[in-house]
Amino acid sequence: MINFTVGPVQSCDAVRAIGAEDVPYFRTSEFSAVMLENERLVLKFAGAPKDSKCVFITGSGTASMEATIMNVLTPEDRALVVNGGSFGDRFCKLCDIHNIPYDVIKLETGRQLRESDIEVIAKDKKYTAFIVNKHETSTGVHYNMALISDYCKRNNLLLIVDNISSFLCDDFNMSELGADVMIAGSQKAIACPPGISLIVLSPRALERVTKNDPKCMYFDLKDALANQLRGQTPFTPAVGTLLQMNARLKEIESAGGVAVEVSRAKELAEYFRSKIKDLPLEIVSESLSNAVTPLHPTNGMSAYDIFLKLKDEYGIWVCPNGGEMKDRIFRVGHMGCLNETDYDKLLAGLKEIMK
Ligand SMILES: *Cc1c(COP(=O)(O)O)cnc(C)c1O
Repeated sequence: MINFTVGPVQSCDAVRAIGAEDVPYFRTSEFSAVMLENERLVLKFAGAPKDSKCVFITGSGTASMEATIMNVLTPEDRALVVNGGSFGDRFCKLCDIHNIPYDVIKLETGRQLRESDIEVIAKDKKYTAFIVNKHETSTGVHYNMALISDYCKRNNLLLIVDNISSFLCDDFNMSELGADVMIAGSQKAIACPPGISLIVLSPRALERVTKNDPKCMYFDLKDALANQLRGQTPFTPAVGTLLQMNARLKEIESAGGVAVEVSRAKELAEYFRSKIKDLPLEIVSESLSNAVTPLHPTNGMSAYDIFLKLKDEYGIWVCPNGGEMKDRIFRVGHMGCLNETDYDKLLAGLKEIMK
């Protein structure tokens, strides 16, 4: 199998080797050291401002999205939410459930965010927070963070960024953007099994968490933050995945750090995109992340049939789209342990299927 989906993705050998071992007991100084090192490396790779903290949640990315909404915002807030696909929609649903007032910037599939989109909605209104999925993975649109950051700085908004599929694939620096929250997940470009998500909190976000009182035990971040001070978690975490994450983060660090990892993803994405020029495939996003290429077959074939054929006849997994996009769009990921030879095999398969 070669896996080009958007997660879980392929892991490197060091991560896979840990997966083959027994999971150790975790209330030990050894495991605490691993957790503190994970926090240090995530804060570094996120460009987090001084005195930021990172907590690790056992639960997929959505768990950390929900914990963020519950702990960082209150019904006294008013948020602006970018909704350009199913992950933007998820933030709207979370705000509904937790009674956070918000307005939506709704974007058609594939469309980049423009300044006028914000202005039309935000005209004469006062907001306290801005919520965005930096890369809307469902459609493959990578939002203009400079525009968002500038708007938030000018209007003093708290900036919450779901960076789940863009972390380690595209440039991102919390300090430069003035971002207050960054969310990531273990099964995207962190390239580990699913089960862990993480939340980086700036001092401004931490202050909000301290004052807030969410009606939930498992997702009370005050408890998680207090435990993480000594490298622990309130409840049993996905210990094995956290150990794997440690191996992966250290590997990135010793290979030159986050900039090197981002350029590796960029080179893979560019390699694939340069080779599809002769195929009846059209890229359907106004702004691409290095993480994913969303493609529309222009020869009349169903995108879903291409996904099935590649899976069943070639052992190659691309990522199908859901709902109304099912027959129109499939996605090819550039996350995880992949190389140019893998893409050559995918391209050869596509060539045969689409001729
Ligand atoms: C994958 C992803 C999530 C989280 O999905 P889970 O299935 O809960 O891990 C959230 N936002 C974006 C942008 C994603 O790509």
